[in-house]
Amino acid sequence: MAKITENLAQIQANIERAKSRAHAGKPVQIIAVTKEVDVERTEEAIEAGLIHLGENRPEGITTKREAIKHEAQWHFIGSLQTRKVKQVIHQLDFLHSLDRLSLAEEIEKRADRVIKCFVQANVSGEESKHGLAKDEVVPFIRSLADMTKIEVVGLMTMAPNTDNEQVIRDVFRNLKNLQQEVVALQLPYAPCTELSMGMSNDYEIAVEEGATFVRIGTALVG
Ligand SMILES: *Cc1c(COP(=O)(O)O)cnc(C)c1O
Repeated sequence: MAKITENLAQIQANIERAKSRAHAGKPVQIIAVTKEVDVERTEEAIEAGLIHLGENRPEGITTKREAIKHEAQWHFIGSLQTRKVKQVIHQLDFLHSLDRLSLAEEIEKRADRVIKCFVQANVSGEESKHGLAKDEVVPFIRSLADMTKIEVVGLMTMAPNTDNEQVIRDVFRNLKNLQQEVVALQLPYAPCTELSMGMSNDYEIAVEEGATFVRIGTALVG
């Protein structure tokens, strides 16, 4: 296994190059997706300077948070069953998979503070993917107006698994357009300044298209 510091240096260099190609100025935060690795490797990630960690199962986030005493920002990136909200809501700093009203209502009921949420969109329309259809995103965000525990910090998507770069790029560009639509609404509970998009195979394209959070597992800690 390669050292995380070496992987990270390579990824940071790639991100900087992607930013300069796109003349993008916004900082890009790297979320180390540690869902497939153990506590020790996760600690190595933190020691390498990574502060954002991503898990996709309630058990994963609970176990790691218990074992790891360092300061970190915990991102829940998997789809979240309503009945599991109670278990994880106090463990996470960011939720990347808000995609339905029943989930928002359960968060409203269980959270003891405002939760920073990304609304997940299924831009490509693939059936296997979670998230709201493109034209459901704005109405959904409007429907959250009465929630006091939800802040929509941004939008999240996953690109299809394809070698066709243009298809991937279009998905990311569509998400960026949607985000700007939400920003223009100037909803106090939905600043929506962030874009969570890009994984090991497509983060450079995502950065070129305006990602502010990339979620990287395999290429970083795998
Ligand atoms: C696993 C996962 C990632 C990271 O994927 P890699 O290809 O290993 O970088 C990113 N986002 C989500 C939602 C994931 O489930």
